[in-house]
Amino acid sequence: MLLWLGIEFLFKEKDMYRYKVTMPDYSQTKIYIIRSRNTDRVYVGATTSTLVKRFSNHNCRFAKGKSQTRAYKVLEHGDCYIELLERYPCLDKDESNAREKYWMRQFDEQRVNKNIPKCIKINPTKNKKEYRKNYWKQWYPIMKEQRLKKCKCPCGGSYADYKRKRHFQTNKHRTWVFNQWSEFNHL
Ligand SMILES: [Zn+2]
Repeated sequence: MLLWLGIEFLFKEKDMYRYKVTMPDYSQTKIYIIRSRNTDRVYVGATTSTLVKRFSNHNCRFAKGKSQTRAYKVLEHGDCYIELLERYPCLDKDESNAREKYWMRQFDEQRVNKNIPKCIKINPTKNKKEYRKNYWKQWYPIMKEQRLKKCKCPCGGSYADYKRKRHFQTNKHRTWVFNQWSEFNHL
């Protein structure tokens, strides 16, 4: 009984930790702008992270492929920098979106963000079928590729991601693990 309580406690702690990690702290909301010295077009965004982190995130996505970030229309001009427009502590995402929207309107002529963030979803069920179809069309090939991608194992073998468990049970891998272990214990 005590053990069970202990386990339950552990799980609760873990969940709390996860909650802390994944939930953005909207009291840290900042509105930022990305500018380039070669164009007057700008990108306006909001983040709860630091500006340096957010900017490098945009740049990473841009390096991976244009369409990965909506800021690419500014980034592709080169010589870009990020600026803080305002520190604006919020209670939740809706409030942060509203403020982001406000700032986007201030740069209406120059901004490259096309869609203004929505605070309320209108008729989310209306196009559910369509949405699901598009979602699969978009993500299925990527997920499939990810699944079939071969990982190299330190045992010398390789395995597709979804076969990892099976690989760990193969003789080759188990022999390797055993050898590692016996080496470690000077057997
Ligand atoms: Zn292996």
